[in-house]
Amino acid sequence: MGWQDFMSALTELYEEIARCRQCEIARTRNKVVPGEGAEDADILLIGEAPGWHEDQQGRPFVGPAGQYLDQLLNIINLNRQQVYIANVIKCRPPDNRDPLPGEIANCRRWLNRQIDLINPKLIVTLGRYSMAMFFPGKSISRIHGTAQKQDEVIYYAMYHPAAALHQQSLRQVIEADMLKIPALLARKESITEARPEAKQLKMFEV
Ligand code: URA
Repeated sequence: MGWQDFMSALTELYEEIARCRQCEIARTRNKVVPGEGAEDADILLIGEAPGWHEDQQGRPFVGPAGQYLDQLLNIINLNRQQVYIANVIKCRPPDNRDPLPGEIANCRRWLNRQIDLINPKLIVTLGRYSMAMFFPGKSISRIHGTAQKQDEVIYYAMYHPAAALHQQSLRQVIEADMLKIPALLARKESITEARPEAKQLKMFEV
């Protein structure tokens, strides 16, 4: 695949996502928020769902949580153009309610296709909804700042930036977890794969 084809594959996907009407919230949202960033990013960050600001602009993480996410990226000398930012669901739930299981299930195929096209080295889950997709049955307070490797991709769980905005004590935690990312990428090759037959995915401290 050439660079142009790659670009158009993701752009075409955005159009498909915008046409999706599988959930009721596709009718109540203002703008769809497929995601944005470097299409060949090493790092894919996955949040929960668009909020009011995102729904207005059609862009992920552009409200207060997004400004804090920008600051978090800055502490490891990255900006949002160098990573890719997406959400578990692409339409805003009314009144910022939690995503419903059916909405998460319906939207999963879009996220899967984004992952296939971007082919990141590291997937960072932000908050418990995206964590639950890759670390099923785990609790965020136990596994934040830990990672697992599966099929050459590292999955890394972090608190949601909005949680740190609301709870000052989480700020140090989320910032410390962010600071571990460069080392995690640097030693990616030496990280052992979780064994597929293992019931519990292998977790390791960074
Ligand atoms: N919170 C999220 O999880 N995603 C956004 O895009 C904005 C806020």
